Amino acid sequence: MFEIEKTRKDFPALSQKVYGKPLIYLDNAATIQKPQTVIDAISEMNSGINGNIHRAVHYLSGLCTERYEAARTSIQTFLHAAKKEEIIFTSGTTAAINLVAASFGERYIQKDDEILISEAEHHSNIVPWQLLCERKGAKIKVLPIHEDGSLAIEELPKLLSPKIKLCCISHISNVLGVVNPIKEIVRIAHAHQVPVLVDGAQGVVHESIDIQDIDCDFYVFSGHKLYGPTGIGILYGKESLLETMPPYQGGGDMIASVSFEGSSYAELPLKFEAGTANFIGAYGLKAAIDYLEQLGLPAIHAHEQMLTNYALQQLTRIDGFQVYGSAAPKSGLISFNIKGLHPTDTAMLLDKMGIAARSGHLCAQPLMQRFGVERMLRFSFALYNTKEEIDEAVAALAKAQQMLS
Ligand code: PLP
Repeated sequence: MFEIEKTRKDFPALSQKVYGKPLIYLDNAATIQKPQTVIDAISEMNSGINGNIHRAVHYLSGLCTERYEAARTSIQTFLHAAKKEEIIFTSGTTAAINLVAASFGERYIQKDDEILISEAEHHSNIVPWQLLCERKGAKIKVLPIHEDGSLAIEELPKLLSPKIKLCCISHISNVLGVVNPIKEIVRIAHAHQVPVLVDGAQGVVHESIDIQDIDCDFYVFSGHKLYGPTGIGILYGKESLLETMPPYQGGGDMIASVSFEGSSYAELPLKFEAGTANFIGAYGLKAAIDYLEQLGLPAIHAHEQMLTNYALQQLTRIDGFQVYGSAAPKSGLISFNIKGLHPTDTAMLLDKMGIAARSGHLCAQPLMQRFGVERMLRFSFALYNTKEEIDEAVAALAKAQQMLS
C-alpha cells in the first residue's frame, strides 16, 4: 500500500479550506484533483515548451511532437492496446463518443438499424446515439438493469437481433458504481457480430484495463477523471474498424494532400485528429498515468474498494438510507437518498461543512426515472480519500438530517 498521508500532500487542492473548514472532496466522479507532477507538467509546457506539433522543423515543434507521441505510447501501454495507431486523442469521453457516432454512424448505420444501450448510461452515451438515429432513421434499444443495479445480461442475446449494429455500455455507471461484466458482454455481442463501445469514463479510474483481453471495439475515457488535465480524452478503437471509418472532422493534420479538386487523408491515428491537438493536455495525461503507475494501480484500486465498502457500511446505519446499485462488484462511488431529505438541500448543507458531494440527476435522467426519483446524492472516492473523511461526511449527513427534518 502507498502511504495515504504522504500521498495527500501530492495534491495541493486538498490542503485548502472552504467556508473555513478543511475540504473533504467527495465529487471525484465528476472531476478529480490533480497531483503536483501533473500541474508541473502542464505548467512547464505552458511556460515555454510550446510549439505546434507535426508541422515545423524547429526545436520546440519537435519537442512538443515528441512529448505528444510519447503520451500516445504511454496510453497504449496503460490500456495494453496492440498498436499506438489505435489511440486517438479527443477532448474527452463525450467528444470520443460523438466521434464514433458520427464516423461509425456514417459508414455503418442505415434506416431501421438499431443501437443498443443500457438503462444505466450517462447522457453522453445516450444523446449522441439519439442524434445519429434522428439523422439516419435508426432506433435506440435499451438493455434493462435489475433492481440491484446489475445489467439484465440474460436479456442481451434476445435483444441482439440482426438489426442491432452497435452496443454501447458503460464499464462502471457514474450512478450505480457497479462494475459491468464488459468482457462477457463483448463475447455475447461478438457472437452476434455486433461491435461494442465501452464508456470507460469511470471504469478506467477504478479498474486495470487490458483492452485486448476485454476485446471491445471502442473504449473511451476523459483525462480529467483520471488525475489528468481537462480538455483531453481518449478514443481507443480497433485498427481494423477505424481503418474503415471516414474522417470525423476536416482540417490540418488529418490530411495527406489537399487540392480544390479533392483531398486525401492521413493514416491512423491522425485521420481522426483534425486541427491543433491538445498536446499540452496529452502530456499532462501522461504525467497522470506515470504518477498512478508509480503508486501502483492494484494498491490504488484496493484502497478505493476499501473506501467504498466502508462508506456503504457506515451510510447503511443512517435511518432512511437508500442506496442505488447494491450489486457486487461495486467500486468508487455510492449514490443514495435519505428519506425525507432533499438531495440538493442536503448537498448545500454539506458544502457549508466543507464537504463536496454531488446532487441532482447525475446526468442520467432515464436511470432516475427507472428508480422513480428525480435526484440523488453521490459520494465518489479517489486514491487520496480516507476513512476519517467518510466518518466526517456520514456525521455531517446525520447533522443535516437533524436540521432538515
Ligand atoms: N460517461 C460517464 C460514465 C461519465 O461518468 C461521464 C462524466 O461524468 C461522462 C461519460 C462524460 O464525461 P466528459 O464530460 O468528461 O466528457
